[in-house]
Amino acid sequence: MNKKKFDFFIYAFIFVFVFAAIIYAGKFYAFGKFVMGVECKTFDIRQNIILPHKKNNSDIVIISVDDPSYEYIVEKFGTWPVPRDFWANLIKGLEVVNPKFIAFDLLFTKHLNALEKGDKELIEAVRNNKNVYLSMNFDNYPKEIRIPPVLNDNLKVELKNDNIIKKSPILTFTNCRNAMNELLDVTSNFGFINVTRDDDGIIRYIAPLFYYKNNYYPNLTTLIALKYLDIDPSKLEIKNNKLILDQGHQIPLNPDGRAIVNWYGKEGTFEHISLWEVNDAIKNNDIDFLKKKFENKIIYIGTTVTALSDIKSTPVSFMYPGVETHATFLNNILDNNFIVHFSYRADLFISVLLCFLIGFCILKFDSVVYSVFSSIAIVVAYLIITVLAMEFFNVWLGIVLPMVAATIIFIAAYITKYLLKSKDYEHTYKLAVTDGLTELYNHRYFQEQMIMNVENVVRYGGCFSLILIDIDFFKKFNDKHGHQSGDAVLRQVAQTIKKNIRTSDIACRYGGEEMSIILTNTCKEDAIIVAKKVWSAVRERKFELADGNKANVTISVGVASMPENGDSVEDLIEYSDKCLYKAKQDGRDRVIGEFEQS
Ligand code: GH3
Ligand code: MG
Ligand code: MG
Repeated sequence: MNKKKFDFFIYAFIFVFVFAAIIYAGKFYAFGKFVMGVECKTFDIRQNIILPHKKNNSDIVIISVDDPSYEYIVEKFGTWPVPRDFWANLIKGLEVVNPKFIAFDLLFTKHLNALEKGDKELIEAVRNNKNVYLSMNFDNYPKEIRIPPVLNDNLKVELKNDNIIKKSPILTFTNCRNAMNELLDVTSNFGFINVTRDDDGIIRYIAPLFYYKNNYYPNLTTLIALKYLDIDPSKLEIKNNKLILDQGHQIPLNPDGRAIVNWYGKEGTFEHISLWEVNDAIKNNDIDFLKKKFENKIIYIGTTVTALSDIKSTPVSFMYPGVETHATFLNNILDNNFIVHFSYRADLFISVLLCFLIGFCILKFDSVVYSVFSSIAIVVAYLIITVLAMEFFNVWLGIVLPMVAATIIFIAAYITKYLLKSKDYEHTYKLAVTDGLTELYNHRYFQEQMIMNVENVVRYGGCFSLILIDIDFFKKFNDKHGHQSGDAVLRQVAQTIKKNIRTSDIACRYGGEEMSIILTNTCKEDAIIVAKKVWSAVRERKFELADGNKANVTISVGVASMPENGDSVEDLIEYSDKCLYKAKQDGRDRVIGEFEQS
């Protein structure tokens, strides 16, 4: 494996390590909560993007106590809530045109004193019309405020294989706001209308079932769906994190037992008919109008008037009537249209995949524009995929974790790329100043260093020395042992030189079989000592030849120092060259540091 590849693997290992650290941090509550909070916002944005492509079920309609209806009621009855015979008359009037269901998202809680005439009429109307559905509300009030009521057996549903709802603290309640006992006596069509909000106040999830006093109770809408689909409420079961209603209708549940609602539109997507209009039509016996609006329809009755404050925030609107969330939930059940959020593990898998792609692009493309552009393209492509996945497959793919991972990998990959490049540069520079055969510095570097040393001494004083080395009778050596052995000896002489000098000294190949040593901050006397050390080391060494035999070589050495022997690069080279010449003249195999100038 070459060095570059090795580096690459080291950095890949660092990525994985950093990534693992992030995942570990993700397990901490605050961080996880933060990620989930932002993730929910991305869900909201996606829901709004795909909104125009959705169509709601037009069989679900809403009779709304809207602002004009509220005024109409206050005008007529002087107060809200209205006497209950008003609702009795509404039921009777609507039943004429055979609606499928009439569901009240209003609470008929205990009467305060004796049963009034209105209460009795409502009870009669409910008794006589089995398609009327009423609601109650769980809460966690202490028993000092209200003794938790025992609910009739006929209100509960049976659930097999539950390991989600029973364990979910947000779906388990300790108290209940009861309806009038007399109403409970005449019907079991009671569902619960509790909603749960996220930390940011937005309703994204709706629970199909609740848990109270060791029994399961249905959401008002779940109850209506069961009736609509003709499903026995004692045959419910949870399988693979889904509440199974029947073959075609299953509600996927989050680990907390709630379903992720797919929203169909802003407020008013489901048809709203004002209560006052309905009431007028009934009074005037306007059967055509009632037929057109309500025949075979599922009717939810609820308040949309701001004064009664049943206004909720949802991903698609901050002014969403509570009653319309029920309609939306029912629509989700009937169309099997819930969103499924893939697990944390799936998000991790996607993150790793994105990291791999982005890391690859950045390290692969040399051009910054290319690598940045391809990274952005990958991220954008993924974001588009998440929207399409939600639109066509009802799947909520994580965005935050993959984006955090992508950002980190982007930065890390760039740092790596920079490090690899600078290493590359170092490598190139080294090649540029090194002699290939001996691995000493080359002539160019020698010249540069000579100039620097001369300048240093000129500027700061002190001294420096130059040693010139020439191998004796090397021509003959080549002739005798061959060029290969000559090269081998050159390499070994270079090694010997390096071994016998300090790291601050610079050994170069001057040319051919000549080498030089620049001794920074070294004066003549010490330079001679170094030269002699090198000279005797070469002399003593047995050099290995190409054929495995050994041989001796000797060197002749000339030494010059600044300022003693000159004050320019040329002077010093000339002086040391003359010393070297004298060494040759005197019989070679020696160190010469001075000669008599003629
Ligand atoms: P002396 O220096 O003692 O006067 O004799 P010499 O034979 O060494 O003479 P000189 O320094 O002029 O010879 C240079 C020879 O060194 C010529 C060539 O055969 C040999 N030589 C130069 N560069 C290389 C090299 O890179 N490899 C090998 N094998 N030989 C080289
Ligand atoms: Mg020579
Ligand atoms: Mg020579």
